[in-house]
Amino acid sequence: MTQDCFPHRHLLGIQGLGPEEITALLDLAEGYVLQNRSLDKRKNLLRGRTVINLFFENSTRTRTSFELAGKRLGADVINMQAAASSVQKGETLIDTAMTLNAMHLDVLVVRHPDSGAVKLLSEKVNCAVINGGDGSHEHPTQALLDALTIRRRKGALSGLTVAICGDVLHSRVARSNIYLLNAMGARVRVIGPRTLVPTAIDRLGVEVFHDMRKGLAEVDVIMMLRIQNERMRGNFIPSIREYFHFFGLDREKLAMAKPDAVIMHPGPMNRGVEIDSDVADDVERSLIREQVEMGVAVRMACLDLLTRHIPRSGEAV
Ligand code: ASP
Repeated sequence: MTQDCFPHRHLLGIQGLGPEEITALLDLAEGYVLQNRSLDKRKNLLRGRTVINLFFENSTRTRTSFELAGKRLGADVINMQAAASSVQKGETLIDTAMTLNAMHLDVLVVRHPDSGAVKLLSEKVNCAVINGGDGSHEHPTQALLDALTIRRRKGALSGLTVAICGDVLHSRVARSNIYLLNAMGARVRVIGPRTLVPTAIDRLGVEVFHDMRKGLAEVDVIMMLRIQNERMRGNFIPSIREYFHFFGLDREKLAMAKPDAVIMHPGPMNRGVEIDSDVADDVERSLIREQVEMGVAVRMACLDLLTRHIPRSGEAV
């Protein structure tokens, strides 16, 4: 595979990526799934490269899997938590970019609570930038790992009906998945209470449901979203009990979907709020653990593709 199949310097979002580019990335990730399951998980593809994970928000899966992905490809990986960095001392995002430039890194993975902050940084740094989640805007690698997980179970994305349920309003995962699934020819439904579904979301080419039982009818894939309390200003749900009753995934609501419908969740899960443990842990239907596995492979593919554009020092530009 050449870099022509993915002619981008950064991965800031799924919006704007075409089906060929998404497919190329997923195909490359398939190879890394095999590598990660083998005894020798390490390759030297990125030897001499430096990857920095710069996280201004908490993360478990994304940060750890980027770290593993970089290390398995032989790169030097450094994790920077905003709380432990100069950002807490008042350094601006631009100053941070200047500091990072002086360190000659190759890839910067950034998570930030503000939508658009990752793009701003990408305009100021000399390296490739991967968006590890910016506010409620996009989380491209989550959508890619979700797509790989679905493709492996269902064979293809095209023609499937996927329901994205819950706190869509605050969810970057929902937005990236909507762009990706639409680009790949899946039908997308969005399900949630009126307070947690943006009014203009249908402009993104989705069908909106406020009744979960109706929305789940005959779907192939159910993606549950976490209630994002940290992004809520005010009260969006009357009570957890009521939310679970109407929008929590349990056996009874699951029965509305196709008999072979699969369950997904990007994590971290609020058990008993948006999902019942009984369905989350159902080994036949739940793909939640597989999503985590695919996360490492997809992030390896992203690091691999984006570093193909960067010449090694001494190489002709
Ligand atoms: N881990 C995902 C994210 O960072 C989903 C979530 O936090 O609910 O957006």
